[in-house]
Amino acid sequence: MRILFIFLDGVGLGADNPEINPFAHVEMPTLQNLLGGQKLLAASAPYVGERATLLSLDASLGVNGLPQSATGQAVLLTGINVPAGIGEHYGPKPNPAVAKYLLNGTLFSRLTKANKKAALLNAYPPRYFDSVDSGKRLYSAIPLAVTSAGLPLFTKEDLYAGNALSADFIGAGWRGMLGFHDAPQLTPRQAGKKLAELARRFDFSLFEYWASDYAGHKQDMKWAVEQLNVFDDVLGGLIENWNDGEGLILVTSDHGNMEDLSTRRHTDAQVPGLLIGSSEARAAFASGLNNLTGIYSGILKIVG
Ligand SMILES: [Zn+2]
Repeated sequence: MRILFIFLDGVGLGADNPEINPFAHVEMPTLQNLLGGQKLLAASAPYVGERATLLSLDASLGVNGLPQSATGQAVLLTGINVPAGIGEHYGPKPNPAVAKYLLNGTLFSRLTKANKKAALLNAYPPRYFDSVDSGKRLYSAIPLAVTSAGLPLFTKEDLYAGNALSADFIGAGWRGMLGFHDAPQLTPRQAGKKLAELARRFDFSLFEYWASDYAGHKQDMKWAVEQLNVFDDVLGGLIENWNDGEGLILVTSDHGNMEDLSTRRHTDAQVPGLLIGSSEARAAFASGLNNLTGIYSGILKIVG
């Protein structure tokens, strides 16, 4: 079976408080339908429904301080309690101590060695590659895991050819912020359909969505709600075109942030482990899973 892993940076399970939590503020019909009418909140987990399971996962892993992206993503990619290993939560980009774990074997390298097809579905703009090549930019944990496994990062050409997706799903950032006025533009539903199509080419594919963490740092409810509206429609387009018999969709995060706009910092909230697919695959994946270290073995169980 295949796995599509939608990684949402900085999304915890928060309080049912529409003043501070965009997930409490907004209606997300697709997501709520999957969760038996519930919103993506702390009180909604655990939940096992017809097509989806929601778990509440510990991201703090027994280490003091607020969870950070480099160590959190390294845990997801290696199954190792990296913050315990280096003695702190660290981020956003990996330092040499975190990078050591990522260079020593991740989901991407392990699956590739086992002749499974793995990919990161995001497209990166030319200036990203320029700043990496010139040493101005460090890879964040996920692209580091991908490139060190010998896999390519998708480019502008891949985006234009429909072989990769914009980090905001719909291509608005490429047209606006990046200035590629002819970049492909998708509706959120089309982006969801595209995600299903791309996932079908691989045994394991990951899509990294960072706007959620950004929304948390910005503390802007209106902007956060706009992102969630897009995400819910992407999810709608995706599950409409997803065959539960052929694979599992996993949505999880590295740490809390967006669910509490009263602080611009990360939070120590539990994070969602949302599984969409057949009840057998969900049960296999969810068995014993209560913190971020179990995502790695869950993925290997399904894909391996
Ligand atoms: Zn952050």
